[in-house]
Amino acid sequence: MKKKDLEHYEQLLLKKRTALIEELGLLKKAALETTIKDSTGELSAYTYHMADQGTDAMEREKAFLFASKSGRLLYHINEALRRIQDKTYGKCQECGAEISSARLEAVPHARLCIKCKEKEEFAKAKEGPNFS
Ligand SMILES: [Zn+2]
Repeated sequence: MKKKDLEHYEQLLLKKRTALIEELGLLKKAALETTIKDSTGELSAYTYHMADQGTDAMEREKAFLFASKSGRLLYHINEALRRIQDKTYGKCQECGAEISSARLEAVPHARLCIKCKEKEEFAKAKEGPNFS
């Protein structure tokens, strides 16, 4: 992929990432406010375990990120940005084919070409619904 194209997709990804981080910040704030309101008793018990608090907060943050669709999307966008740095961006991670520019334009964090993506979707559908 040409340097100019890489820069173009990098801009797309960065723009998406900024929007997502903003969205997640709002979500997190809402989630935290709900926790404080819903479980005041439990929360005060928490604060006494000062030593564990840091890890707990981090684990909860990670769990929170992965529980949300935007959190997972953010992860994929970060991975795509890493591939731009590696210069492996735009190549299918399954078969190594170039991912079409039309597909990258629509899904700049795509890691599979459309053929491999369809195969993956088909395999998933065969396994039945996946709620994770
Ligand atoms: Zn492929």
